[in-house]
Amino acid sequence: MIKENLKTVHENIRKACERAGRDESEVTLVCVSKTKPESDILEAYELGERVFGENHVQEIVAKTDDIKKPDISFHMIGHLQTNKVRQVAGRVSLIHSVDSYKLAAEISKEAVKKGLEIPILLEINIAGEESKYGITPDELADITEKIAALPGIKIEGLMTVAPITENPEDNRSYFRKMKQLSVDIEAKNIDNVSMNVLSMGMTGDYEVAIEEGATHVRIGTGIFGERNYT
Ligand SMILES: *Cc1c(COP(=O)(O)O)cnc(C)c1O
Repeated sequence: MIKENLKTVHENIRKACERAGRDESEVTLVCVSKTKPESDILEAYELGERVFGENHVQEIVAKTDDIKKPDISFHMIGHLQTNKVRQVAGRVSLIHSVDSYKLAAEISKEAVKKGLEIPILLEINIAGEESKYGITPDELADITEKIAALPGIKIEGLMTVAPITENPEDNRSYFRKMKQLSVDIEAKNIDNVSMNVLSMGMTGDYEVAIEEGATHVRIGTGIFGERNYT
């Protein structure tokens, strides 16, 4: 099943890139393997996948301890508590979910302690949803400048979790706003900030996200099937 699903997902990514006049190589597939067994990750790896997204610190620790492939990377995509930063630092190659200065400061502290430079994305609550983590678009410019001044971290771009919707077209305007935010921040030429990454789009809406400029799509269900949380 994973094999067929991956084939479909890559085909959809290719077509979305074609519609948008983009090169397929501009889009990184982050296979969201949270709650899924290591055997699923290894199966996807054997099929050529190299980037996996997880959102629980304990799972990241266990999976990175067990799976030793020199070219595999794990990304932290879920909400990260400051007291858990120590455990993920050095285990993930990108943290997508930096949603406050306080969290960035903690990552910075840990990076300096470990002699690392940790790449991060700033998570934006693009639809202003009460239930969601994330920096508001209004706060973004100030917070970016403050975080950029911290040692040991590098801002690589922006991330959002768009609203859950039946119709992916409903999220097009949010994806477009995200792209515009990243263009606006890029234009400020802040030291230590690049806007090379735009992480948006999940199983339900990744094709629209790609049409609007996503560089990283985070797909779980569409590859590994429904998650069982019980
Ligand atoms: C779980 C999760 C995903 C993947 O969601 P699917 O709908 O299963 O593709 C993507 N991004 C984040 C932040 C997630 O927590």
